[in-house]
Amino acid sequence: MLLDFFMEIVPNLWQVGGGDLTGPGDAAIYLVRFGKRAALIDAGCGDGHRRLTDNIGDCLPPDVVLEYLFLTHCHYDHTGGAAAIRDTYGCRIVAHAQDAVYLEKGDSRVTAASWYGATMPPLAIDKHVTTATQTFKVGSGHLTAYHCPGHSPGSMVLVTEIENQKILFGQDIHGPLHADLLSDRQQYRRSLKFLMGLQADILCEGHFGIYRGPGQVKQFIGGYLMDY
Ligand SMILES: [Zn+2]
Repeated sequence: MLLDFFMEIVPNLWQVGGGDLTGPGDAAIYLVRFGKRAALIDAGCGDGHRRLTDNIGDCLPPDVVLEYLFLTHCHYDHTGGAAAIRDTYGCRIVAHAQDAVYLEKGDSRVTAASWYGATMPPLAIDKHVTTATQTFKVGSGHLTAYHCPGHSPGSMVLVTEIENQKILFGQDIHGPLHADLLSDRQQYRRSLKFLMGLQADILCEGHFGIYRGPGQVKQFIGGYLMDY
């Protein structure tokens, strides 16, 4: 029997990496397609690159161009694989400016690479998000980035709509907050309240999987407002 190492969430949206799908060090990697263009949300740590490219190849026809890799924040389990993805697909890497700085200088402490016994090589970011919100056209669709600091200074979420469902890519909503990561509790709580207000139908999280329905999404996010 052939096993699939990706999971369709809704049509044209897949989880293609993370945990069992690519490698144990990877946070979730999501792939979204809008016609002839596609985008990845987060990159994993890079150990499962071969598996990741196989999964992407299983989801996308060869004539679909992977245009963007959006990094939700600078942490190594989300970004260590970014350079290899750009080398393979020629996509543009997007990150918020306030986290891009730690990727570009290869800061293994703030990117948490040292927590994984790794070092973060300097990573050039092609497009810096410098505003509270910015919308990117991808083929026939759009992805909107919102700056949601707290877990890291330049954490951001991505939002899109597929078949009238609002999809929220919110990685590491659960934290943690730590001085090494330059976390900020007040900003974090403000960001969680903002995310609750988005009233997303589906949440694609970094380490805890997929939450479906506005009630479940709100409950998941709200739980961390109680914890922190
Ligand atoms: Zn993180």
